[in-house]
Formats: sequence, structure tokens, C-alpha cells
Amino acid sequence: MTRHFLDPRLAGLVRYVPGEVPRDGRPVIKLNTNENPFPPSPAVVKALSAAGAERLNLYPDPEARGLTRAIADRFGLDTDRVVTGNGSDELLAFCFHGFCPRGAVFADVTYGFYPVFCRMFGVPFETVPLRDDFSLNVDDYRGRRETVFLANPNAPTGLALALPDVRRLLEQDRDRLTVVDEAYVDFGAESAAPLLDEYDNLLVIRTFSKSRQLAGARLAFALGSSSLAADLMTLKFGFNPYSVNAQALAAGEAALRDEAYFERTRREIMRNRDTLQEGLRALGAEVVPSKANFVFTRPPADAASLQRILRERGILVRHFPDEPGRPARTGAWLRVSVGTAEQVGALLEAMRDVLRDMRKETADATR
Ligand code: PMP
Repeated sequence: MTRHFLDPRLAGLVRYVPGEVPRDGRPVIKLNTNENPFPPSPAVVKALSAAGAERLNLYPDPEARGLTRAIADRFGLDTDRVVTGNGSDELLAFCFHGFCPRGAVFADVTYGFYPVFCRMFGVPFETVPLRDDFSLNVDDYRGRRETVFLANPNAPTGLALALPDVRRLLEQDRDRLTVVDEAYVDFGAESAAPLLDEYDNLLVIRTFSKSRQLAGARLAFALGSSSLAADLMTLKFGFNPYSVNAQALAAGEAALRDEAYFERTRREIMRNRDTLQEGLRALGAEVVPSKANFVFTRPPADAASLQRILRERGILVRHFPDEPGRPARTGAWLRVSVGTAEQVGALLEAMRDVLRDMRKETADATR
């Protein structure tokens, strides 16, 4: 008999299911986890070699002073309003753990990690349905007392809320904290960061994983009032003061300094996104207009089968099956990360072939 040592309070825990990471060395076009298709800036690679392996005997600076200074300068904030973390997932975990005394509330279709965190930390949560077109109605949050989590742009839809709407959300209740998860904001949406001086009930979370090509380094930061940042720092130091490692700190500083590379790659991804959206529409797919580095699309065929067949052809995209007990909203859709121009071209071509085959099969079957 297997003995279980897990605390029974955690027996209902479910794992967040990350997108597939290919293993067998087969070449794949990886458009399933919203990574940046370009390598990090050459300046990052140089900084990593210089910051180098020979200093790994030492702990990293738990206050990440160099990187924190660089981030603070970029946003025109004092350094005591910036907290770095091991990816936004870690900072979000601290928020669910420590900033939700009345529970959490978020959209019914949003980042799938939010409910997982809630179960992990025993935080009661409620979801608020998006409209049928996946847009978010800020008025639906009026009167809610829970801490609000807003992915902006949202994932997996790519839709962004405009700044006046974010402001209205903050205005609804100045004693209620709103955490704005801006993982994808650099691809054309508006950041809530300019509202930070006006609203102390706002925490903005940003990551280096997407627009800065550092998903593998695990690096993110939060911006808030100095008191919010101090509390977040306490949560971090109560868990792991060294969660951001020395290599990530060096990589982050170098990435922030190379503004030209950031701009060039970000613009290219937005251009490729246009190509991808147009191509998908031309294939008869429905497309949600995206402000992120991915596109949410309803193909004119069974989404799960299409995802599987593309995978057999070496192209990974994401499918979120409908879950029992939740409104059927995403099962017919695929989320496709924006790759290089070549990757986008290869995906569209493969989709065209596969859709033709699938249509032929259906026609044969009904003949
Ligand atoms: N927020 C959203 C909305 C995301 O889609 C992701 C990526 N899976 C994250 C946060 C986490 O990003 P990271 O931990 O790499 O910063």
C-alpha cells in the first residue's frame, strides 16, 4: 500500500499544466508557450559570460540592487517600489498567498495558474464571466471585495483593457487591491504603470520572459507603492531571499540596457502577428484581435484534432480543453504564439494542408 504524507488540506491540489517541452531532439516549431522566438540580445550573452561561472560560489544580492536601480530608472520610480522575483509566477504566488485576505476574483477565461495558486494557498476565489467576445466588462467587478487579478493583455485571448478602464477598476474601491499581470504588455497594450503614483491599491507585475527573451532565466518584477513593495519583499524574504539567481540578475540588467534590440524584436513580432492574423482569417478561422505575442483563434475544424495533427508535423500550438463544471468556452479554440516570419509561414502552410485533408475526410465520410 502506498503511504501518503501530503497534508490532507492539499489533497485537492491540481498541477498547473505547462505547455509541452519537446524532448526527443526532433526539430519543432514551438508556438505553444508564448516564448520569444529570437535569442536574447548579444549584450545579454556577453554579460552572462562576464558575470560568469567563476562567481557562482557566492550568493546573489538578495535585494538585486543593480537590477532594481535599472528598473526604477526606467519607470521613474524610487527603488523601494520595485521587487524582483523568479518569474512572474513567483510574484503572483506571493500575491495570492499574502494579499488576498478576502479571497481572489478574476475572469473565467484567463491565466490558468490563478486558480491553481488559490488552491495551493487555500484562497477562496470567484470567477467573473467575460462577454461572449471575450472582452472584460469592468462594471462586473463593482462591489466585489476580493483582490482582483487582471491579466492585461489577457491570456489566452490576447485582448487588452484600455487604461481608462483599468483606472475605473481601481476607482471602484480604493481599499481593494488590483494586481495587473502585464506579462504581454510590450506587444502593443497600455501599461498601468503610469497610474502607480495615483493609486496605492495597484500592483503591476512585469516579466522578462516574453519581450526580453529571458523565459529560461526566470526573471520578473513588481511595481507598487513603497508599502506594498515592502510587504511583498517580506513575503519574498519569508520564502527565499535568493530566488533570483546571479545569472538572471546579470542577464536582466544587460537586457534592459539594450533598448535597440528590444525595440527591433518587439516590432518584428508585432509585424509577424499581423501576418499570422491575416493568414488565419484567410483560412476561414475566427481570430481575436491580439495585443500579445500570441493569437487566439477558432479554426474551421475540430481544434483538438488540428492541434494533434500539427504536432505530428512538428508544430506545437496550445489547446485548452473545456473542463467539466466550467462554461464551454475555449475547447474550440487554439492559442498560437507568434514566431519568426519563417515559423509563421510554416504554420500557415501546414494549417492550409491539414484543413484541406480534414475537409476531404469529412466529405468522404459523408458521401
Ligand atoms: N502571466 C501570464 C498571463 C502568463 O501567460 C504567464 C506565462 N505563462 C505568466 C504570467 C508567467 O510568466 P513568467 O513566470 O515566465 O514571468
